[in-house]
Amino acid sequence: MLSYDIVIIGGGPAGLAAAAAAKKAGTDSILILERDHELGGILNQCIHNGFGLHTFKEELTGPEYAYRFEKEVYDLGIEYKLNTMVMDISSDRIVTAMNRTDGMIQIKAGAIVLAMGCRERPRGALNTPGYRPAGIFSAGTAQRLVNIEGYLPGREVVILGSGDIGLIMARRMTLEGAKVKVVAEVMPYSGGLKRNIVQCLDDYGIPLKLSHTVIDIEGKERVTAVTIAEVGPDRKPIPGTEERYTCDTLLLSVGLIPENELSRSAGVEMNPVTNGPVVNESLETSIPGVFACGNVLHVHDLVDYVSEEAKRAGENAAKYVQADGRKADGEEIQIIATEGARYTVPSTINVNRMDDLLTVRFRVGAVYQDSYVSVYFNDERVMHNKKRVLAPGEMENVILQKTKIKDFKDLKTITVKIEKD
Ligand SMILES: Cc1cc2nc3c(=O)[nH]c(=O)nc-3n(C[C@H](O)[C@H](O)[C@H](O)COP(=O)(O)OP(=O)(O)OC[C@H]3O[C@@H](n4cnc5c(N)ncnc54)[C@H](O)[C@@H]3O)c2cc1C
Repeated sequence: MLSYDIVIIGGGPAGLAAAAAAKKAGTDSILILERDHELGGILNQCIHNGFGLHTFKEELTGPEYAYRFEKEVYDLGIEYKLNTMVMDISSDRIVTAMNRTDGMIQIKAGAIVLAMGCRERPRGALNTPGYRPAGIFSAGTAQRLVNIEGYLPGREVVILGSGDIGLIMARRMTLEGAKVKVVAEVMPYSGGLKRNIVQCLDDYGIPLKLSHTVIDIEGKERVTAVTIAEVGPDRKPIPGTEERYTCDTLLLSVGLIPENELSRSAGVEMNPVTNGPVVNESLETSIPGVFACGNVLHVHDLVDYVSEEAKRAGENAAKYVQADGRKADGEEIQIIATEGARYTVPSTINVNRMDDLLTVRFRVGAVYQDSYVSVYFNDERVMHNKKRVLAPGEMENVILQKTKIKDFKDLKTITVKIEKD
């Protein structure tokens, strides 16, 4: 059986940043396992710019951003195996993987970093009526076809869902000569970033219809038309509001799901809101020595935050192997998300393991204007940050200080909530 100090599953931006950070933190024996034929993850198909504004203060394309981290991995001499699918992780950290040259391999890992990314919610997860004609694609599949394979999946397009990938693809299809007729979003707000609505829809005159959904898909061989209708607060279509669009393509951008089959079968405790693992301040899951970062942990809006988080996961994995399974005294403090805050990452803190500052990320469940992000230590409000707008499409954060947590007597819970005043 092979043996490495740290095995990283997934060679996307999260896996790459985790690997580089672990190596710089003094752990040499690291292996990245990637099922694709190249490193870089989903960013390889994101050829638009806008990546890296936070990390590099530059506007990069997806492949350029990914390459900065790939180069680090090459320069640091970190080992990786491509075309290698991880099939199983056991609770005692034995990784089973397969590729064409080695066949089935088993690797004993001192620590594991889960960095498998996420996948798109498929049509089967939606209640869309009609036959199953050709011409229905997830937005990410269309992105791959256009940007990597060189095919235009259609010429007249309706998009369901206003997640970032759908917005990006509205612009991409338009630039490639297709006519994007409308983007329909079932919620009363967009699931994507404000900047993408402006730059990908408004700039091209593409209408965004909020509180609308697809109620009919016509066509037997290929999509010929799509009917959308307004929905009420119960998300049911309102009769009389139907609008029919002739088109040959329907793109679905209806959400991303962390890719956690491996985590689940290993017995990692999962968060039902994020569909990712429950983690502590070190981004360590319920299985000691198994860490998680990137979109497999929770779906991020910007890759910059993925890189930042993955760096922490890598460093903590290195600390774990160097201390031979580091333990810390002291109690786990629960972080509770409530009243508008849907979840937090991490979910618990052990103050003796935390860094001086800890970024707690979360998303809200609705749009809030002129509201406050509040943090309570037990029942005492210790933070009250005014926000002009909070929206589900944008990740939020609060930064906790170790000294403040340490000095607070009998701290049991930290609560994050949204307040009107
Ligand atoms: C279509 C799309 C468009 C996006 N556009 C933007 C944008 O414009 N701006 C922005 O900031 N962010 C954007 N993002 C988000 C950004 O790309 C992600 O935040 C980032 O790629 C997440 O990095 P990751 O490493 O967690 O996941 P990924 O990039 O998905 O990498 C995960 C890797 O794990 C591998 N893997 C999974 N399972 C296994 C297994 N069992 N064995 C081996 N390998 C495995 C996958 O092949 C993949 O390479 C976009 C995301 C998507 C999906």
